[in-house]
Amino acid sequence: MEKNALDTDIQYLPGVGPKRALLLRKELGAGTVGDLLKIYPFRYIDRSSIIPIKDAAPDMAYIQIRGKVSEINLFGSKGSISPEDLKFNTVKRMSVTVTDGTGYMEAVFFKGIKWMYSKLVPDEEYVFFGKPSVFKGRLNMVHPEVDKVRDQEKRQDGKSSINSSLTGVYTLTEKLRSSGITGKVMNRLMENALISALPDIEETLPEYLLIEKGLVPLQFAVRNIHFPKDQTALEKARYRLKFEELFYLQLSLLKQKYVRSRNENGIRMPKVGDAFRICYDSLPFSLTGAQKRVITEIRNDMKSGRQMNRLLQGDVGSGKTMVAVLTALIAVGNGYQACIMAPTEVLAQQHFKNISRYLDGTGVKAALLTGSSKTGERRDIHAGLEDGSIGIIVGTHALFEDNVVFRNLGLAIIDEQHRFGVEQRARLWRKSSCGMAPHILVMTATPIPRTLAMTLYGDLDVSVIDELPPGRKPVQTIAATEGKRPAMFRFLKDQISLGRQVFIVYPLIFESEKMDYKNLETGYEQIAGAFPFPPYKTAIVHGQQSNEEKKFNMDAFAAGRADILVATSVIEVGVDVPNASVMVIESAERFGLSQLHQLRGRVGRGSEKSYCILMTGNRLSRESKRRIQLMCATENGFELAEEDMKMRGPGNLEGTRQSGLPIELNIASLAKDGLILNDARQCAQSILKADPTLSLPRNRILAETVSQDKYKVRDYSQIS
Ligand code: ADP
Ligand code: MG
Repeated sequence: MEKNALDTDIQYLPGVGPKRALLLRKELGAGTVGDLLKIYPFRYIDRSSIIPIKDAAPDMAYIQIRGKVSEINLFGSKGSISPEDLKFNTVKRMSVTVTDGTGYMEAVFFKGIKWMYSKLVPDEEYVFFGKPSVFKGRLNMVHPEVDKVRDQEKRQDGKSSINSSLTGVYTLTEKLRSSGITGKVMNRLMENALISALPDIEETLPEYLLIEKGLVPLQFAVRNIHFPKDQTALEKARYRLKFEELFYLQLSLLKQKYVRSRNENGIRMPKVGDAFRICYDSLPFSLTGAQKRVITEIRNDMKSGRQMNRLLQGDVGSGKTMVAVLTALIAVGNGYQACIMAPTEVLAQQHFKNISRYLDGTGVKAALLTGSSKTGERRDIHAGLEDGSIGIIVGTHALFEDNVVFRNLGLAIIDEQHRFGVEQRARLWRKSSCGMAPHILVMTATPIPRTLAMTLYGDLDVSVIDELPPGRKPVQTIAATEGKRPAMFRFLKDQISLGRQVFIVYPLIFESEKMDYKNLETGYEQIAGAFPFPPYKTAIVHGQQSNEEKKFNMDAFAAGRADILVATSVIEVGVDVPNASVMVIESAERFGLSQLHQLRGRVGRGSEKSYCILMTGNRLSRESKRRIQLMCATENGFELAEEDMKMRGPGNLEGTRQSGLPIELNIASLAKDGLILNDARQCAQSILKADPTLSLPRNRILAETVSQDKYKVRDYSQIS
């Protein structure tokens, strides 16, 4: 068989060689010609336009200036030096004055000076390509690309084998640049790569799909993404590549789901059982419409004979815990055990306390297992899990230990799933000695934008609690700077005198725990000074305390023995204190949107009007300012998550950082390409509906592509 030129080692590409190959591999991950062609420009420049110096402004992107070199000055560390000194390497900076008759521009070089100096001839005309800025009132360009006018004209004459009016700009590292792989060189390498390998690029989408969706062929797309014939061709190329990327992602996720939904691999739990009924009937409130709907969805899964793999999303305080308890009771009512996993000890304790309350009268035994469970206690729990006398176990990572064995685990509920790794989940499944995978319910209070959820959890069914229990009053959110602190303290005193309680949260940054601790201590002293005992009682919780200390202080606050809880963001994931009506967040600009939202969710749980006060510094970055404004403008977690994703990109969103995206996207963006994603998903869905196993001849390419390694995304249902 003929060798595919795409697989050619990059060092054999004209213009590369062993040295550059090493660099391209290390810096860009490009080992073959095919890899190189998958590096797309992040921007394009219209090389046909020249800007007069008088019209150039620092807010412009990359531009071209055409002008004569009128003066060249060299500088060493002690000021001006002569060209003689070039040989001694003492030159630090070269300043080139350029004029085009409309004004003057300074081109500045800090590196590669010798070479550039030898290239530039006074009074000759050149084209300077770079980002304009202004320095001491004069137009300035740092490290522009420089072309002799003759070369430049040659380029535009179409002498080159690939003709394009838009020039791609690639992300290059400093290492690449300093080894001579500049933007211009990169363009040339791409050109060579296309010449040698374009004919070998095989279509990756079936023809019927190209026609149906009006997509351009892959060869056209690859050629025009690097060297667009014009703007329209570029748009078409982009659309095709984005569509393909999102389409295959969805196809692989949905295929897994289809395969699973055809398997009768789940534990059948046909009834709701007595425990469920007793608990349900004795609830002091009625469930919200959303809670009822979600429980019905869950119930249908559990009685279907197929394994449940469901994600439950709901804002803080929407009543997920309640749903978790009722779900666990269905498992117990059918003769199985349930486990509820929490990411932290504090949260596990809180879950256990809440859950135990609901179990009164049901006869179901629950237990709590965490890292700090005592040996004797632990032994009893292990025994109870093995003989089946414990129906519901609440715990942390301690549940993963090898000596924890269940009699018949039928359901695993995972709270804030992103803190557990896939492997740990797999270990949990293996603990079920009945030989069948337990039903899985993943709960998250981190609202995830729809496009992201489709991708992160494309293989899970999603339930959303989009309704808060009745009687919740909106939380009023206020931003304030240091000058307002006395007024803020007065406000807190008023609230406390009305019998309310107050959270004051300090940021915790992992790189500098010591410094944060100091921040917290200083803050605490300030609070203690402003709120002296008596009459005020202040508790403090932070990461350097032992679990007992934390619990002691948290309990004091929860029980109303303290008016103020000063804390690092550890309270983010938990405590439920309905009487707390004010959340003060110090240095709020240091928190992400979703963290701020989570923290705010700690108040507004009781029937009193609640407040969230965001204390910030006086000078905020644009992004911080926007975050604070958004917090004051909306309480809707999904809206905030959408905005967060737009500002920071999907990879940095809270809740996605650890689990990561199933595959890396090269060109599509979850934040910006929601419409294409929807279309791609629908398209994948209808193909799978007609051909769930992708075995029709016309879907051969699809079957081959999704069987590639990169599409083997994690599978929550996996037992081993
Ligand atoms: P989440 O886990 O989603 O943050 P919780 O389950 O902890 O929310 O519920 C928050 C509070 O609301 C709890 O005090 C709970 O008892 C209460 N709650 C839950 N469901 C309802 C409901 N349908 N009506 C009234 N209160 C409810
Ligand atoms: Mg909760």
